[in-house]
Parts: sequence; structure tokens; C-alpha cells
Amino acid sequence: MTTTENILSIRAQFPILRREVNKKLLVYLDNAATVQKPISVIESITHYYSNTNANVHRGVHTLSQEASAAYELARKKVQQFLNANEDQEIIFTKGTTDGINLVASSYGERFLSDGDEIIVSMMEHHSNIIPWQILAEKKNLKLRVAPIFENGELDTQALYALFNNKTKLIAITHVSNTLGTINPVKEIIKKAHAQNIVVMVDGAQAVPHKQVDVQDLDADFYVFGGHKIYAPTGIGVLYAKKKHIDTMPPYQGGGGIIKTVSFEKTVYVDGALKFEAGTPNIEGAIALGVALDFVTNIGIENIFKHEVDLLDYATSKIKHIEGLRIIGTSNHKAGVLSFSVDKMHPFDIGTLLDKMGIAVRTGHHCTQPLMQFYGIQGTVRASFAIYNTFEEVDYFVESLSKCLTMLR
Ligand code: PMP
Repeated sequence: MTTTENILSIRAQFPILRREVNKKLLVYLDNAATVQKPISVIESITHYYSNTNANVHRGVHTLSQEASAAYELARKKVQQFLNANEDQEIIFTKGTTDGINLVASSYGERFLSDGDEIIVSMMEHHSNIIPWQILAEKKNLKLRVAPIFENGELDTQALYALFNNKTKLIAITHVSNTLGTINPVKEIIKKAHAQNIVVMVDGAQAVPHKQVDVQDLDADFYVFGGHKIYAPTGIGVLYAKKKHIDTMPPYQGGGGIIKTVSFEKTVYVDGALKFEAGTPNIEGAIALGVALDFVTNIGIENIFKHEVDLLDYATSKIKHIEGLRIIGTSNHKAGVLSFSVDKMHPFDIGTLLDKMGIAVRTGHHCTQPLMQFYGIQGTVRASFAIYNTFEEVDYFVESLSKCLTMLR
């Protein structure tokens, strides 16, 4: 349960939340872009470099063995967190974008061909559009787009109507970073699989907030990045079903992915390591494991509930502001509050809020097609994490009203 005391003791674990910005105590509401890090995660990195640092998988010496064990333990933690069937279905990547590119390059190159169709949705992040566009151009594929309703919900019937015998892959976000909409990915996967369509889920905005069980979802691929779930930047995860791990070619060539190499032929290792060429982000993976411990200790359901309570509270307070339009009003939302205000540029609002110590994101949030759908240039986005408080929401709403008065 997340009582006020609990939230305050969680907050105390985040050193950055004690700093001031423009002589005001920082109010950090840009959590959908990246979240702040608890001390346990920060210290795990220092601890790694102070005690363990060595390259993984190649050494017989103690440090290398300890580093390898810690790196592989992190893989196990991710496996458990996502309820994957085995740890070899967990590939460490640089982040969400890297994971999507891996699937597009490796799976796409081998299994998609001339005339095949890929479906994305109108609410995708550029990271889940551009890799497919690049692939489509290279291999003469067709990229199709599932529409959404005005309230920011996916039009699932229209999505299913796009299915035909050329449809080979759907790449869909679990939770929209701009709208907060939670998509019914389990149902989508079920319908897709009935037509032999493979599904890749962009879980960047879901894993930090919602219980994700990849076996229950039956996802073929599921990607997320560490930095939105209290881990450092530069580390992420691609979950891939074993049948795909076994049949996909490596993403990149390099050390660490081979059984034998000669100039005539290379034989690759089995499992996740086939996709982790070169020295990986060892401390990042270890710190991701620590971040997952942090989340597990609080309980992901508690995190989700607290964030949605903040969202509902903030929504009820701002929705009556004159000229303000909330973008994304689905009943199934995570803690993301996007809005635009008549005749005002989001950038001006964000700049004034920053003067008051409040960090929000402004702009298109890497979802330009979605902005075109709504006929706007961008939004102001406040997004919540476990350490945010109702007092911060009060201060944000009060400051927003002041900003709007100044701009008017
Ligand atoms: N997809 C979604 C839904 C996101 O919110 C983000 C990050 N804003 C990404 C993909 C890309 O993540 P990253 O830049 O960390 O690779």
C-alpha cells in the first residue's frame, strides 16, 4: 500500500529530488521521458566499478567470473519480472529503440519479403515507426496504420480489418507515451496469432507501471528500456520467444556471440548471447536488476495505483481550465497527462513552469503523426512516478494557472 509516509520514505531514496531548480524545490513531472534513480541503483554502479569491474564471459579470473555471474543474475531477474519462460529469451539491448531495431533488422531481414505488410498504429513513438519504414523501403514491404478514436483509444476493429494474407507483423505500443492509453495487447496478440501474424510490443511505457507477463500476453517480442524503470540509460531488454531466438540471425557481428570462427564460416552460440555482440553494458544490466528489486519491493500494482490516483487528481483539477484541451481521454490510462491550451505554444508554458521549478515535457513527444491526427503542434505533458505527491500536483496546477494568466 502507498500511504503518504511510504511515498515520503520512497522519495527520500532519490537524492536528486532534494535539489533546487530556479531557487525552487524540483518538481519532476517528466517521468515518461526518463525517471530519476534511487540511491540503490546509483550505488550499484559505484559498487560494480569499485569491486568487480571486468569483462564478462571470457575470463577465468575471479573478477571476470563475478562480473559474469552478476550480469547473468540480472538476466534472471528480468526473466522473473516479465515471467518469461527462460532466461535465454532475455536479450540485453541499449534500450527500447535498440530492441525494436534489432527485431526489424534480424527478424525482418530473414522472414519478411516483397509485398508483405506490417501494421503499426497511429499512436506509435517514432522509434516504433522508423525502423519499420527503413525495413519496408529496403524489402519493398507495405506499412499500414491502424487508426485511433478522438479519445486516444485504438480502433481495434479497424486494426483487425487491416489483416489479410500479406500481413506478417504488428508492431504496437502497450501504453502510449503521449496519450497514456493502455492498449488491449493481449486481445490483439490473440487475434493476430489466429492469422499467423507475429506481434512485437513496445513496452517502454508499460513495464515501469503495469504487471507485464509475456507468457500470459503470448507476445512474440516485447521491448523496454531501463531508464524509464529507475535503471540507468543505455540498457534495455528485448524479450523474444525461444522459437524466434533459435531462428533469427545475429543483429550485429562481433565477439561474444560465437562458438567457432574461421575465415570460411562462423558458428554462433545458442540463446540470447547470439544477439549481444561486443562488450555489453555490464554495469547497466546489473543496475537494471537492482532497479527491478526496487520496483518489486514496492509492488508494481502499488506503483500503478499511486500514479493513476495522481493522474485522476490532476485531471480533475485542470480539466476546467478555460481553453485547455486534454489530449488522450481513454478510460484505460497510465499516469500521463497531455494537454494543449488555445493560442498558446506548449514551449512557452514549459519554459514558465521551469522557472517555478517544475519539469514537464513539451512538444510532439516523438509522435508527430499523432500530433497531425489531432491537428496540433505539440502538447504539454506531465507524467507521474511513484515518488510524486499530491502536494506536487497542487503546486503544478497552481503554477500552471499563473503561467496561463501571464501568457494571456
Ligand atoms: N517507445 C515509447 C512508447 C517511448 O515512450 C519511448 C521513449 N520516449 C521509446 C519508444 C524510445 O525509448 P528510448 O529512446 O529509450 O530508446
